[in-house]
Amino acid sequence: MIPAQVTNPTPDQLGQLLFDPGQRTPCLLCGGRPVYAGLFIPKEPIPLGAPEGKNRMIRYFLCQKCFDRGQQATNDAERKIMAEARMLLTDPNDN
Ligand SMILES: [Zn+2]
Repeated sequence: MIPAQVTNPTPDQLGQLLFDPGQRTPCLLCGGRPVYAGLFIPKEPIPLGAPEGKNRMIRYFLCQKCFDRGQQATNDAERKIMAEARMLLTDPNDN
């Protein structure tokens, strides 16, 4: 399951996404308790289904343990999001 997606959010929506605890999903990398919110703005918006000319922001959460891995955790999270997005696009059951 891909994390929540918003297209061109207003600052209010962005704040709500990042800080509303009710919106939290488990750690993207290990499924642990979510502590830190991250926003991923892909360099290639197309695989994530954004309309042309618009980008997607994908919000995800990391647990303390994964967050402590720093940039490596960010890289892993972004790679995972992009991989899942491509899988969804090529899902034969989608049509
Ligand atoms: Zn984790």
